[in-house]
Amino acid sequence: MLRSVSMTDDRTPDQPEDSTRSEPETKKADPFAGLTIDFGGGAVDAVPLGGNGANGSGGGSDSVPIGGGAGGGNPGGGNLGGPISFGSPIVFDAPAPAVEQRTGHPGSGGTGDDDRDAARTKLLIIGSGPAGLTAAIYASRANLDPIVLAGVVPGGQLMITSDVENYPGFPEGILGPELMAKFREQAERFGSRIHDVDVERVDLSSRPFGVWARGVEYRADSIIVATGASALWLGLESETRLRGRGVSACATCDGFFFRDKEIAVVGGGDTALEEATYLTRFASKVHLLHRRDTFRASKIMVERAEANPKIEIHTNLAVDEVLGGAKVEGLRLRDTVTDQQRDVPMEGLFVAIGYRPNTEVFRDWLEVDEKGYLVVRDETGSQIEGVFIAGDVHDHRYRQAVTAAGDGCRAAIDAERWLEAEGISEATTATAW
Ligand code: NDP
Repeated sequence: MLRSVSMTDDRTPDQPEDSTRSEPETKKADPFAGLTIDFGGGAVDAVPLGGNGANGSGGGSDSVPIGGGAGGGNPGGGNLGGPISFGSPIVFDAPAPAVEQRTGHPGSGGTGDDDRDAARTKLLIIGSGPAGLTAAIYASRANLDPIVLAGVVPGGQLMITSDVENYPGFPEGILGPELMAKFREQAERFGSRIHDVDVERVDLSSRPFGVWARGVEYRADSIIVATGASALWLGLESETRLRGRGVSACATCDGFFFRDKEIAVVGGGDTALEEATYLTRFASKVHLLHRRDTFRASKIMVERAEANPKIEIHTNLAVDEVLGGAKVEGLRLRDTVTDQQRDVPMEGLFVAIGYRPNTEVFRDWLEVDEKGYLVVRDETGSQIEGVFIAGDVHDHRYRQAVTAAGDGCRAAIDAERWLEAEGISEATTATAW
């Protein structure tokens, strides 16, 4: 059961833990007494980067609400070298080409040939998470000279992820931003032109397709949409502040850091039930908190959770605040029937209230399914010839960095093949097709 304690949330991060916890209101045995919180050097090291608009494909963990517009973030150019400081903005040592001074149609005169070339491409990739940047690596190696519109908020979901331990090739794990910096470096090494701008509008009615971003009109023979999806958050200031310090939106990515911890999952859909069940592999106890008394989740998922001795299901409970200075130490919960609040100790919070694909600017052009994700046809295609789709913007099933990257590869190869069939370029990637 959830036992209430009196907790305050006005401590500084430097205060010792013991000085911050008040006596439990009840004199009965406190299951949280003597609780020590140690994130094992994992989640606790990371703090949110920025705070909004992490567009971009990617299957990483924490992400932030959609910042509007399409266009995946990118992680900054070049080699970040040493350890990344999560507390400060990432410095791009290879800034994107300065395209913002140019206006108007690249081919409509007044901007010169160089400018026209800078915004004209055989392949435009929108999004710079693992899908977009992998597509860029493949496309640039195939001499397609791709332009990547990467978004003004760098990086996709991995940019606000701490340790990534399930991306193959990094046996010791790698920080999300560092991994994305490597993706970008690799794409640029082969000549991808990466512009850190958000897409504002697209016109897919005829080819070359038109894409507008920060006053520049881009023209492309083909497009790969890799704008990703963003996890939804509760919208609490304390939730944002403690993201990466015990608050997460990805059990697959961060569950490992909660070994033997008592944690909560908020949400009443399949994602919440699935994540709660998954987290029992690590946590000593998982409290599932749902704001209503009926679940959106499928019956079988609820039954599975009910049968799991490590899961305690609590209905009619909302999270009003995440408590803790430097890391999550508790939750302020509200009974949604009586409106009564109480504080409970907790060592972690997984927010599992759904995802939103970043599809706004494409909605007039591309088909979306009932959940708002783009509909893929014939592997990576769309209903518009020459427009391809990759990563989490269509994939609500796997949502992993490695699957998004694989998808980016597939889309780039399909685009290359299509461009060749159209007589726009020669296919150079050796494949078995
Ligand atoms: P859902 O939209 O199905 O569920 C979201 C849940 O979060 C709802 O219970 C909702 O509560 C709750 N919620 C939303 N906003 C808040 C908030 N601000 N505070 C508290 N609670 C909130 O999203 P899911 O991600 O769970 O699922 C999306 C789709 O993906 C579904 O179709 C699902 O079936 C599918 N899916 C399938 C899986 C599988 O088959 N293995 C695994 C995961 C997802 P309320 O009910 O009150 O609105």
